[in-house]
Amino acid sequence: SNDSYLSDTPTNDKLLNELLAPTFDEASCLSRYQSYLYRKTSPHKPSSYLISKLRNYEKLHRRCGPLTKSFDKVLKMGKNSSKNIAATKCKYLVWTAANGLGNRMITLAATFLYAILTDRVLLVRFGSDMVGLFCEPFPNSSWLLPQNFPYRKDQKNMETYESLLNKTRYSNVYWPSVLILNPQPTHGGHNNFFHCDHSQSLLEKVPVLILKSNQYFSPSLFMIPTFGQELSKMFPEKDTVFHHLGRYLFHPSNEVWDAISRFYKAHLAKENDRIGLQVRIYNTHRAPHETIIGEILACAFKHNLLPQLGHHKSVTSPSKNSTSKAVLVVSLYSEYGEKLRAMYLRNTTVTGEVVRVYQPSHEGHQKSYDNSHNIKAWTEIYLLSLCQALITSSKSTFGYVAQSLGGLKPWILQRAYGEQIPDPPCLQAVSMEPCLHHPPKHDCKANRFVKFTSLFPHIMNCEDVNKGLKLV
Ligand code: GDP
Repeated sequence: SNDSYLSDTPTNDKLLNELLAPTFDEASCLSRYQSYLYRKTSPHKPSSYLISKLRNYEKLHRRCGPLTKSFDKVLKMGKNSSKNIAATKCKYLVWTAANGLGNRMITLAATFLYAILTDRVLLVRFGSDMVGLFCEPFPNSSWLLPQNFPYRKDQKNMETYESLLNKTRYSNVYWPSVLILNPQPTHGGHNNFFHCDHSQSLLEKVPVLILKSNQYFSPSLFMIPTFGQELSKMFPEKDTVFHHLGRYLFHPSNEVWDAISRFYKAHLAKENDRIGLQVRIYNTHRAPHETIIGEILACAFKHNLLPQLGHHKSVTSPSKNSTSKAVLVVSLYSEYGEKLRAMYLRNTTVTGEVVRVYQPSHEGHQKSYDNSHNIKAWTEIYLLSLCQALITSSKSTFGYVAQSLGGLKPWILQRAYGEQIPDPPCLQAVSMEPCLHHPPKHDCKANRFVKFTSLFPHIMNCEDVNKGLKLV
């Protein structure tokens, strides 16, 4: 292909070490088979067990997904009859959207893992704001929740897992055919024991689970004894869960891929070095832009991500044999790209390197229910994942997706207050996994707090959220 200058990866890695199924129409989703041209081969190979689980999942999805006889049975099933349960051979897990795209993607990856572990079919309820972002991930089927799915609308009157738990204290016979599940262990003041075997054996009996979450609950799945062995076989390297499942699930649609590949070829492909900088500011009044710029530079200089500034430039043309770096700035605000660009335009660098700064957009505000806004967000998350090093903002799921897709351990900027530049300005992540911000706290009887980090050697507190948990 004439695109091969983009990367030094050998062509046999097109399927990402068999992570991807070969049975797709290439033109319907160009990114699926072209992404390998844009990044180095991942040093993390998917295990053969994970690959076999994915191929089996694909078969299950084809057998039970939309437009199959089994799926028709679910469409006709009543809400509460326990007879339904025997009649349905297939079980379903419906993903619904909450918060921004980063939150949605980390939740979706965790939901897919949960679907694989419980032999459920994953269906996604995408509103118009999610249209045209991703390709279909499963061959010869669809993951889109059909419009005629009976529980699309009437969710207010549906049973939740918590209400079921209350009832089962008194009897064991009542099984709804559909249930709303929030895997967050404590919410609304209650424990729901999602991370416990006894919950999983209850949930197992419900044919349709509608998942409501904005969390990356994979670490909770690793705490569940019945899943433990499977997970160890699937992921001998535990910090690669999102890395593999994300690369398996999330392929930019042709429209998004066009934007990604055009930007990449125009600005990033030919640079010796690509640094991604994600600046996410939740409250613009908290620290002035100057403080944050100062912090970014302190971090970048300290860790040799960017060269220090030399003297003021008198001649504008760079010397011919100098190496160059590209900085991809991703932020809702234009200030960051503009300030950095101006600095490196006006000054030489002490190393003689040329630094070019690009910022694809500056949307100003989060507009998560707007399709074209989400398309920009996905384009930028993906572009960040193509960089060789990342500086990210703390607590941002947007950054988490970029780092895990890219297989990168980012430098996380410390939260700045006022005019004080934090010291140290940034810390490198220990693992590329996303953080579960609201993890379980209790044991399975809820009469004792548990320190999960001492129970599970592969779970630690997050670098950016003290009480959060992540896989390492
Ligand atoms: P989080 O809030 O940082 O955890 O990330 P989310 O992705 O869940 O929510 C933030 C949303 O705001 C994104 O999905 C985008 O819609 C928008 N957003 C935030 N930062 C950026 C950015 O740098 N670029 C673009 N295009 N959108 C952004």
